[in-house]
Amino acid sequence: MRQDGSRCCAEDRFVRKISPLDELDELDEPDDWRPPLLPLIRYCGATGCRRRARPGGRHCAGCHAAAVRRYCDEHRRALAVRRRDAAATRDDDARARDSARAKLAMALRRGTLERGCCRECGAREVVGLIADPADWRAVAWVCREHRAAELARRRDAAAQRAANAKQAAWYDERTRALAAIELLPPAKRARLHALAARGPAGTQLSPGAPLYVMNLVRAYEASLAH
Ligand SMILES: [Zn+2]
Ligand SMILES: [Zn+2]
Repeated sequence: MRQDGSRCCAEDRFVRKISPLDELDELDEPDDWRPPLLPLIRYCGATGCRRRARPGGRHCAGCHAAAVRRYCDEHRRALAVRRRDAAATRDDDARARDSARAKLAMALRRGTLERGCCRECGAREVVGLIADPADWRAVAWVCREHRAAELARRRDAAAQRAANAKQAAWYDERTRALAAIELLPPAKRARLHALAARGPAGTQLSPGAPLYVMNLVRAYEASLAH
């Protein structure tokens, strides 16, 4: 307020803003109102660098790449030895995978093969996934996220295959054992069935129960071992 009673324009605006009741509507519940959170910005930890840090990292992308380059230069010899040792102890699978990857890299350098787009989302930044090292030209191009998803899918498929193989092996074993039991002398067969009927905690199993069959096969195999 000025001495002559008139308002300066800042005060004027302030009074106009809060005095009419209808303009107070947006402040109806002052208890619920919080200032919006400011986005958390982390800056690069390198001295003198004001760029933003990489997500989850201490430095910006440029400083990080420079640090990695510096480290590799300084430890060139140790890294080469480590790489050679690791290469020497690879199994055949790893050797085939490495060789396929090297062939792909060479084909990209020579230009005989071109990088595609992510087959899931069409992103331009892709990595090559080689399903079968023997057929390294059949590359699936995927972005980083879809690569992770694809690898998870392959791991699940491999686990499923292993489980199926285990199941199939058990069916084989069971079929063979049951057929062999049928050919045993009756006394021996009766003894195996008596063993098979023993359930957990003194219960009696019925011949149709899965555990009964499992016990029967186990008892038969144990009798063979003796
Ligand atoms: Zn930086
Ligand atoms: Zn993608």
